[in-house]
Amino acid sequence: MTVWDALVGQSDVVEQLQRAVAAAHETDPGPEMTHAWLITGPPGSGRSMAAVAFATALVCPDGGCGTCRACRDVASGVHSDVTIVRPEGVIFGVDQTRGLVGRVGVLPSRGDWNVIVIEDADRLNEHADNALLKSLEEPPSRGVWVLCAPSPDDLLPTIRSRCRVIRLRTPPIPEVADFLVRVAGVDPALASYAARAAQGHVGRARALALDEGERVRHQEILRFPQRLGSVAACLTAAADVVAAARLRVADVADPMDADDLAQLLRNYGEGGTGAGSAKVRAGAAVKEQEKGQRNRRRRLLRDELDRVLLDLLGLYRDLLVLLADQDASLINEELRSEIDRMAANVDMVGALRRIDALGRARALLAADGNEDLVFERLALELQRPQVR
Ligand SMILES: [Zn+2]
Repeated sequence: MTVWDALVGQSDVVEQLQRAVAAAHETDPGPEMTHAWLITGPPGSGRSMAAVAFATALVCPDGGCGTCRACRDVASGVHSDVTIVRPEGVIFGVDQTRGLVGRVGVLPSRGDWNVIVIEDADRLNEHADNALLKSLEEPPSRGVWVLCAPSPDDLLPTIRSRCRVIRLRTPPIPEVADFLVRVAGVDPALASYAARAAQGHVGRARALALDEGERVRHQEILRFPQRLGSVAACLTAAADVVAAARLRVADVADPMDADDLAQLLRNYGEGGTGAGSAKVRAGAAVKEQEKGQRNRRRRLLRDELDRVLLDLLGLYRDLLVLLADQDASLINEELRSEIDRMAANVDMVGALRRIDALGRARALLAADGNEDLVFERLALELQRPQVR
């Protein structure tokens, strides 16, 4: 399996990146290759995977064979010429940015290229100082920046304009299902369900296919509309959804926070007591870290709740489709009889208004709206959509 096989439904992008890799391995790379790339695409389309595949192919003598020493070293994070900055990292200050600028400037020690991948490049905005901009514009001859962001608009124009933009698309459902069967060995019926339910989000499809708990949660979310009997029931259902999401985030974030703190204290030299303890010495840094951790938690919670909204959107899209055509295929094919029952009480205008309400909820969440209020309002709107 080559490094490119992990990219689902992105054949155009793969071809373009492979041309760049082929050029990059020439003595005189030519125009197919450049020093600053920006990989964009909707959540779940595989931005980070594309960036890492590209970085690996640049340092692999075979253009990303997936099996040689270089490929394996990148995969396990120990290749000296590939630096990958991952989104979980909460410390992302000017110092770190400058560190990366310095890092891209050294000559590669093993192969032809020295690659820095930044998976959440939108976070560079605050620290887009001149050192970074200059490095993006005139990178050292063997250095490559590969930035990732949801869309080019998420980056400052000063950064964006210095990069060649690669756009991933939402992968088609059949290709996601095929990928699950081929690469993860998933049963075809289960793969088809997971690909449909995930609506083109590859990571989500994989989780639904491989994790029973994930499937149970998904089914629970789809029962949300049935819980919206009275106003009180709406408020309870909304609170339950947000509370469940908070618990899920805590499961992920608690160990990450503990690791960050342990790492930080190690950097300050563990041990000592009272005024001399590492925790006191690290005081300001700990505060700064906690701020980053709070932001990370908010981001994780927003992502989690957005997935809930996408699941519900799929359900109401099914309702709309079924109202228009009894025989149409559905995202939630397994729930056809339930959706049929919903269709008895809702007309197309009602379905559209509920879809609008979900769209508004997504926009409010993305704009940092209060999660509890967003979901209370949504529950009430799904129960009785307003004319707008
Ligand atoms: Zn290789």
